[in-house]
Amino acid sequence: MSTPQSPFRGSVTLDGPSGTGKSSVARGVAARLGAAYLDTGAMYRAATVAVLDAGVDPADAEAVARTVAEAGIVVGTEAGTERVEVGGADVAARIRGAEVTRAVSAVSAVPAVRRQLVAQQRALVAGAEAVVVEGRDIGTVVLPDATLKVYLTAAPEVRAQRRAGQLGVTDAAEIAALAADLRRRDEYDSSRADSPLRPAEDAVVVDSSDLSQAQVVDRIVLLAETAVPAGERR
Ligand code: C5P
Repeated sequence: MSTPQSPFRGSVTLDGPSGTGKSSVARGVAARLGAAYLDTGAMYRAATVAVLDAGVDPADAEAVARTVAEAGIVVGTEAGTERVEVGGADVAARIRGAEVTRAVSAVSAVPAVRRQLVAQQRALVAGAEAVVVEGRDIGTVVLPDATLKVYLTAAPEVRAQRRAGQLGVTDAAEIAALAADLRRRDEYDSSRADSPLRPAEDAVVVDSSDLSQAQVVDRIVLLAETAVPAGERR
C-alpha cells in the first residue's frame, strides 16, 4: 500500500538550540511531507572538520574563512540518508565527534563562513517543491519567506537527558558535563553578532519538554499542511 502524498508545497524552517530533538523531528516531518531535508548544522560541522584538518586556529577568522571557501563541502538533501563530505571524503560520522562539537561554534561565528554556507543552503533548496531546513538562523536569515517557521525549545534539563540518552551516558557527572556543554553552545550561538540564535518574529514556538517526538512531528505536519504561503498572507 502506498502512503498518500502530502499536499504540502513550500518550505518549513526548524530552528532552536541543541538537544531539543530537532534533527529527528526535522527528518520525521520531511518524511511525512514527502519533502527534501537539509541539515545546516552538518554544513557548519563539515566546515569545522576542514578547519581542524588544516591545522587552522578556529579563532583566526581570516584563515578559517579561506579554509572553508576551499574545502569542497557537500551535504545531501534526502531525509532518509545522511551524506556529508569534505573534499570528497565521507565525514558523516566524524562531524558528530567531541572535537568538532567543541570547535563548531567558533567556526560558525565567522561572518565570511556564514555568507558562504548560507548561499550554498539557498542554492540547495531553491529547486525543491517541498523542503524542511533545520538550523539556528533559517527562519531569521536563510529563508525569511518560508511557508512555516518553527522554533523548537525544551527545558535545559530535558535537553541534557535526551542528549545523554542518545549517547548512552548514564553517569550523573557526565550528564552534568553534557548540560554544561549545551549551555556553553547556546550562549555562544545566541550572543554572536552575526545571525544569533533566536526565534523569527513569525515563528511558531513549540516546547517539546512534555511531548514525545511523534507528538512534535504530528503537530508540525499539521501546521505545515494548514499553513498559508508567505506570498498569500494578508
Ligand atoms: O545543529 P547542530 O548541533 O549540528 O549545529 C552545530 C553548530 O553549528 C551549532 O552549535 C551552531 O554553532 C552552528 N550552526 C549555526 N547555524 C545553523 C546551524 C548550525 O551557526 N544554521
